[in-house]
Amino acid sequence: MGAVAVVGAGPTGTCLVERICANAPDLLRWPALDIHVIDPYPPGGGRVWRSDQPGLLWMNSTAADVTLFTDESVACAGPIVKGPSLAEWLGGDPGLFAPRPVQNAYLSYVFDRTVATAPRGVRIHVHAARAVSLADLPEGQRIGLDDGRVLDVDAVVLAQGHGDVTPARAEQEDAAFARRNGLLYLPTGYAADLPLDRVPAGQPVLVRGMGLAFVDLMVLLTAGRGGRFTREYDGELVYLPSGAEPLLHVGSRRGVPYHAKTGYTLAGGRPREPRFLTPGAPAELVRKELAFAYYRELITAHGERCKMRWAEFEDAYADLDWGSAEMRALIRRAVPKPADRLDFDRLDRPLHQIRFGDHAGLQRWMHGYLAADLRRRADPAHSADLALIYALISAHGVLTEPDPWFRSFFSYIASGPPGQRLEEMLALARAGVVTFLGAGTHVERRADGWRAVSRSVPGGVEAAALIDARLPAPSVSRATDPLIAGLYATGGCEEEAGLLKVRPEDRRLVGRDGAAHPRRFAFGPWVVAGRGTAGFARPGLNAPLFRGADALARTVLSEAVATEARRVA
Ligand SMILES: Cc1cc2nc3c(=O)[nH]c(=O)nc-3n(C[C@H](O)[C@H](O)[C@H](O)COP(=O)(O)OP(=O)(O)OC[C@H]3O[C@@H](n4cnc5c(N)ncnc54)[C@H](O)[C@@H]3O)c2cc1C
Repeated sequence: MGAVAVVGAGPTGTCLVERICANAPDLLRWPALDIHVIDPYPPGGGRVWRSDQPGLLWMNSTAADVTLFTDESVACAGPIVKGPSLAEWLGGDPGLFAPRPVQNAYLSYVFDRTVATAPRGVRIHVHAARAVSLADLPEGQRIGLDDGRVLDVDAVVLAQGHGDVTPARAEQEDAAFARRNGLLYLPTGYAADLPLDRVPAGQPVLVRGMGLAFVDLMVLLTAGRGGRFTREYDGELVYLPSGAEPLLHVGSRRGVPYHAKTGYTLAGGRPREPRFLTPGAPAELVRKELAFAYYRELITAHGERCKMRWAEFEDAYADLDWGSAEMRALIRRAVPKPADRLDFDRLDRPLHQIRFGDHAGLQRWMHGYLAADLRRRADPAHSADLALIYALISAHGVLTEPDPWFRSFFSYIASGPPGQRLEEMLALARAGVVTFLGAGTHVERRADGWRAVSRSVPGGVEAAALIDARLPAPSVSRATDPLIAGLYATGGCEEEAGLLKVRPEDRRLVGRDGAAHPRRFAFGPWVVAGRGTAGFARPGLNAPLFRGADALARTVLSEAVATEARRVA
């Protein structure tokens, strides 16, 4: 009998189990396979999507944009097994940003359906435990669990997702500074896991980071502490404080939050596969690709604002370099209004060139900026913004080594919060609960606390509490997970740019000696060549998660088949 193990049963592990089951009838030459699924959290949701977290925390993807089932768009060798997207499964509003416990129910359903429909002879065993060690056997792998049991299998896939790491040096210094001076410091982490009850009510708190982790934090410290949002007769959202919330002073390099998700669909046709992009494309080619998608939607869906037909624009555009004088001239001719043109720098750093005389001026500007951004993201007249988002997602799936600009721009434009969250941020800002610190925010240690300064405004803000509102950056060398830490200490795995190193073509784990292990594999967001898997798959877009999981499932099954053949011989 063959046996394989999947360590980690979050969305990636669940997708792998589904793909192993889908491909088993095609590749197995004997009637029995045991699939061991190991995770201390219930399978499906795993840790990030566990059910016991506040329903106040939402997904940042709409229900229509989330599926764990393959469809005809997926280019893979294995069979397509159709199933409902989250929106179809819920049967409600496709634009819903589901609470995380609801996503847990969908992911549990996917896992349970996979178990119930597994092919004859394939048995799935769930182990509610943590894998803590991995050792070579003459013909297999031995996995040690934290409850003392061991499992012997032919091949192991690590699908451990987002891990915890020991604090970085700067975080350790801030923590030590806080201890010495009786201050509060919360390092990077998942908002649902942070000891937020230690954050004092009514006191100023400095927050570094304005991305999704800040939105989670903001929600838990306001509505999560009894505050309420209500709509005025004129439609404006207003925050009614409970008195238990802290005063959040938030800043970041950009000084503005991520753009909200759009509240409409594309008008000028479905997004296409990238046209100019190659896996190693330089930044200028990436920008050319992104702008191509933006102008295609602008010209085809909003022709009245343009002075050129798409076919003419497309022909000329294809031959020109991004950033060249000819390209700029073409765009000026085709799109007369500067506000309709795509300006990467202005979009990326809206606050960078602006200086204010005082904090009140900065707050007024920020309130206006948020209100304008909310209007724009809800207005289909700006559907070229959505085309840009789709192009970013496709590029994310193609680029093997996205540069830091792309990664940051991608998060800022394409992985923002639901519009309602930005509206709440604006309401909290108007209520004085959230105050913005400006662009290039920098936190200094002073004798009696922290002081935040920024390039946008003179003076600073002092506080006795500091929170780093970010998820920790991936790091194999600082991983606290005993399995990864043990492998790393003994040369069983290697780190590449913080990620777990695998041979990209078959995702075999690479050791410190550079050799790819025949029976160990790894896949997911913290693994090399797994970047396209860092978010949920969208229906109809040939998602990298499915392509990768399918190919890996087939490799793992082939490994089990070969082991069994040797055993029998
Ligand atoms: C807070 C947060 C919100 C997000 N929101 C969205 C969103 O709205 N939309 C979107 O598209 N993407 C979102 N993402 C991106 C996220 O990457 C994916 O949604 C998804 O969770 C990744 O799945 P995964 O299975 O690879 O990793 P994880 O979800 O991290 O699951 C990994 C699993 O491995 C288990 N594990 C780890 N080590 C061991 C071990 N040694 N033994 C046994 N089990 C182990 C963990 O317990 C965990 O259950 C979000 C990510 C985070 C962190």
